[in-house]
Amino acid sequence: MDFDHSPKVQDLCRRLSAFMEDHIVPRIRAHHEEIKAGIFPVSFMEDLKALARSEGLWNLFLPHLKEGESGTQLTNLEYAPLAEIMGRVIWAPEVFNCNAPDTGNMEIFHMFGTEAQKEQWLNPLLDGKIRSAFAMTEPDVSSSDATNIQTLIQRDGDDYVINGRKWFISNAAHPNCRVMILMGKTDPDNADRHRQQSMIIIPMDTPGVTIERNIPIMSHHSPEGHCEITFRDVRVPASNLLGGEGEGFMMAQARLGPGRIHHCMRSIGQSELALDLMVERAQERKAFGKYLHQHGAVSEWIARSRMEIDQARLFVLKTADMIDKAGAKGARKEISMIKAIIPKMQTTIADRAMQVFGAMGISPDTPLADIWTWGRALRFADGPDEVHLRSIARMEIREAQNKPGFTLPYLTPPLRDEK
Ligand SMILES: Cc1cc2nc3c(=O)[nH]c(=O)nc-3n(C[C@H](O)[C@H](O)[C@H](O)COP(=O)(O)OP(=O)(O)OC[C@H]3O[C@@H](n4cnc5c(N)ncnc54)[C@H](O)[C@@H]3O)c2cc1C
Repeated sequence: MDFDHSPKVQDLCRRLSAFMEDHIVPRIRAHHEEIKAGIFPVSFMEDLKALARSEGLWNLFLPHLKEGESGTQLTNLEYAPLAEIMGRVIWAPEVFNCNAPDTGNMEIFHMFGTEAQKEQWLNPLLDGKIRSAFAMTEPDVSSSDATNIQTLIQRDGDDYVINGRKWFISNAAHPNCRVMILMGKTDPDNADRHRQQSMIIIPMDTPGVTIERNIPIMSHHSPEGHCEITFRDVRVPASNLLGGEGEGFMMAQARLGPGRIHHCMRSIGQSELALDLMVERAQERKAFGKYLHQHGAVSEWIARSRMEIDQARLFVLKTADMIDKAGAKGARKEISMIKAIIPKMQTTIADRAMQVFGAMGISPDTPLADIWTWGRALRFADGPDEVHLRSIARMEIREAQNKPGFTLPYLTPPLRDEK
């Protein structure tokens, strides 16, 4: 493993950091004010996107671009430090067309879309002209287990008809969200529970699609939305099916691998920012005659945060390298491990930083409450921690079962007389 960044990536890191310093960070206040005033998308978003694109800082997440597709082709390992830099500001990834869930949807269209589907949906997404949503989770069933989902996709002549209810569907309230990829069941009685599901493309303006509400996250209203949506006799042409019938589960797995590592990369950027804020505040304020960092508890929080972030970063780089070499399937255990570790780390470090800031730490005057909230939400999104821990344990047990008796020479029970 060689984790030195190539000259190309060093150059991109330098240019992306400069972009963040020159164009994003100075607009944090304006972004906050416009969102508070109900302006969304914010007035400067399209200008920033155009600028980022003109500087070659566009679609950095997609490792396998094809002829004519716009973007800067990078491996996962190359993308990791860049995602970390843009992750420092929660709304920044969209400026570079690198935000979830659009990135995952672009990957799905890219991998499984027909030429016509790519023409209609992938190209405008790659150009940042439209936004998209991915609808899997349902209120009525435990959706950590995707075999539970109930939404029906039924063939009717040349169409499919969709009925069901989804919730927490990110991006669905974005005014530019034009399309949704929905996972439902085409064959609920199939004996193979992993072949019951399919994915279908639903334009947002299809009759029967109703956004019932935008659900706040920890009472925080996100204008792009995490929406509850009903589907009543939603009719789309059969050509809107993505891949084949019964391939939905497999495609969801393919989508979630890169999506999860991208969340972790950005999460490291947010954790770094929380630590930067903690360190600066600890050097400015005095309590009981000492700077805060001179108090043992605070200095331990600083040290622990640094150790945790550096561990996490190395682990993400290792996982990115494995995805590049063995695919998301070959890195399944590592992807689950970083997803179970890093969002939790983000909330822990944000929590320490809030404590160092005193009451100001939980006010909107610092980004810490948002950093904490997003870290907390990520412990559900793309699979709750416990589901990842279950997968890791199962893989570990399976590997152990492949080498029975391996530990025996390490055991030294007293020898017994065989009589
Ligand atoms: C901010 C945010 C954005 C989201 N965006 C989207 C989106 O765009 N599209 C989408 O489809 N979904 C989205 N989700 C939903 C998310 O993917 C689901 O919440 C998640 O998959 C869990 O499903 P569930 O909520 O039904 O929880 P359940 O499946 O009901 O699980 C509840 C709890 O049960 C426990 N549990 C479950 N399985 C196990 C197990 N095997 N072992 C031990 N404990 C277990 C866990 O603690 C888990 O948290 C989003 C969620 C959030 C918070």
